[in-house]
Amino acid sequence: MHEFSLCEGIIKQVSRANAGVLDNVSQIKIEIGKLSGVDVESLVFWFPVVAEKLACGQVQLEVAEIEGSALCTKCNQQFFLTNLYDACPHCKTYGEYQILQGRELLVKSFILNN
Ligand SMILES: [Zn+2]
Repeated sequence: MHEFSLCEGIIKQVSRANAGVLDNVSQIKIEIGKLSGVDVESLVFWFPVVAEKLACGQVQLEVAEIEGSALCTKCNQQFFLTNLYDACPHCKTYGEYQILQGRELLVKSFILNN
């Protein structure tokens, strides 16, 4: 049920940014990094349920997934990372990298009805 509370968090964040009002929000756009540990399918499943509960069932969710990428600190090469514990594909070293992107979970924008 982790994703359920994430949905609540997303909607509450938009509510705060929109002066506490949700009636006029038609869409929320979020970005989820593939290394964030969020189950996107589950999030998309729960979103309308949570939106209904928070009296804003009209809100649509749009999710953009962000690829994970990392910089190997051993061989200094950048690579795409699909799992947090993958090895560097260039020098095969494990765990010696800096994550550049893919951990984000953020509300990008929201759209209001006219
Ligand atoms: Zn490497």
